[in-house]
Amino acid sequence: MDLSALAERLIPGEYPPLESFEKRYPPRDLPKGAEVTRLAPSPTGFIHLGNLFVAIANERIAHRSGGKLYLRIEDTDLKRKVDGAVEAVIAALDYFDIRFDEGAEIGGDDTYAPWYQRQRAEIYRAYAKELIRQGRAYPCFCTEEELSELRDEQTAKKEITGYYGKYAKCRNLSEEEIYAALDAGKPYVIRLRSLGDPSHKFTFHDEIKGDVTVTENDQDVVILKSDGIPTYHFAHAVDDHLMRTTLVIRGEEWLASLPIHLELFDALGFRRPKYGHNCSLMKMDGESKRKLSKRKDPELSLSFYRQEGYHPFAVKVYMLTLLNSDFEEWHQKFPDKPLGEFPFRIGKMSKSGALFDLDKLNDISRTELSRLSAEDMAAFLKEWTFAFGTQEQKDYFSDEEYLLRVLSLCMGTSGKKRRKDFVTAKQAVEEIGYFFGACKQKDAYCVDDATRNAILDGFLASYDINNDAQVWFSNVKALAASLGYAAEMRDYKANPEAYKGNVSDVAEVLRIAVTGRANSPDLWTIMQILGEERTRERILAART
Ligand code: GLU
Repeated sequence: MDLSALAERLIPGEYPPLESFEKRYPPRDLPKGAEVTRLAPSPTGFIHLGNLFVAIANERIAHRSGGKLYLRIEDTDLKRKVDGAVEAVIAALDYFDIRFDEGAEIGGDDTYAPWYQRQRAEIYRAYAKELIRQGRAYPCFCTEEELSELRDEQTAKKEITGYYGKYAKCRNLSEEEIYAALDAGKPYVIRLRSLGDPSHKFTFHDEIKGDVTVTENDQDVVILKSDGIPTYHFAHAVDDHLMRTTLVIRGEEWLASLPIHLELFDALGFRRPKYGHNCSLMKMDGESKRKLSKRKDPELSLSFYRQEGYHPFAVKVYMLTLLNSDFEEWHQKFPDKPLGEFPFRIGKMSKSGALFDLDKLNDISRTELSRLSAEDMAAFLKEWTFAFGTQEQKDYFSDEEYLLRVLSLCMGTSGKKRRKDFVTAKQAVEEIGYFFGACKQKDAYCVDDATRNAILDGFLASYDINNDAQVWFSNVKALAASLGYAAEMRDYKANPEAYKGNVSDVAEVLRIAVTGRANSPDLWTIMQILGEERTRERILAART
């Protein structure tokens, strides 16, 4: 069969010689050991924690090695395209401080542009045409119906589904059959003619997983669809070669496609990039582990972290903790060092499922937020509140000095020990609500109404905003003693039966009256911040 004539018939027109692409996209001039990595999302509009997980690994490896990270948009499947999706990916990753050197909507060095696959159609067709000429690709005229019958037949026989071996009907069409189908105007796709043998297994070195055993590909996968647009597999091989990617780090769900990709690289005569398949994020569901799911787990979506007001730094710290086994220790040792200084190593990446646990993230968040200055905290809370908070909460930011006093107290920035009361912006803004507006009672009193009134009245009788913390506390102690409570803890501990309780029970009543809650930062300071009038009002309002 005249394969050149067939190639011309299937993909008509003049295409640049393949060497011209090699020249147009030359090897990158980078120092030895520099890795070129990429993120290659489909523009579906849904960007999730798994994408961030892989993005951090790609970014760290590229930049620590003096290489490049670029953004390629895999938009060959138009059905999945959502407007604004590319900007959404960039913004979501930028929030976590992931910066690309070049790519779609990023700009940068445009030697390897365009970065939208749809704009590279000519390149894929040129390579597909060459594969047809070499007999490594052929037209397939099977209809959707025929393919679905084939799948049913294979499923019934418990055989692997797909287009391969004896099932690849169009693989051995004669010249007459092909031209007859073309003359009849039948639509066709272009398939790879696989040379793989499924009884052959081979060892492949994965940069993350180590040596993995894989089976040779024998699927005659589609490389160009009937509209001339490539499939993901084919575009991946052509682009990663021409964009000079040295290391493909992607989710382990792609490991199953690896043999197809390796065969494509070989058929195209390209040098294979290195691959690292990153473990999936898992969570505990009862007794067993499962992958985080879009349907069941809101925490899979990156917008969840924005809406809940997680600090991006805390999320990043957690992701790095899951990504590199020695990160946690390093970060504890050097909490003030920029994360970029951590010697991130691909060899330290987890080989199998990383267990994602919101409680652990919350712990990390508490610690990271407690390290902020009151000013940085105010800025962080403000950003969240103006995006997601209520009008009442936005008003908290009208008096900055007052807010800073509140935050300094709640964070313990002036004391020796930092408090860890804040987990997220959303929770923190709710938490400080009692310093503004009315205070809602959250916790119940532990005493009867008469005792509560006696405590509140007794306190008001001696209350003076000008009393310092010591005088204030000795008044509370005296009040406790006058009502049958132990003024000193040690007296109470020595003889608990002799008292109704101790001074902390009395303070708790005052605390609930003033803040609505049984636990709060230092009560004297809270009263100082609220001022005498508001403190008195709240105590009076708490009487029954
Ligand atoms: N377009 C694929 C995705 O949406 C990219 C896979 C890869 O990184 O090779 O995840």
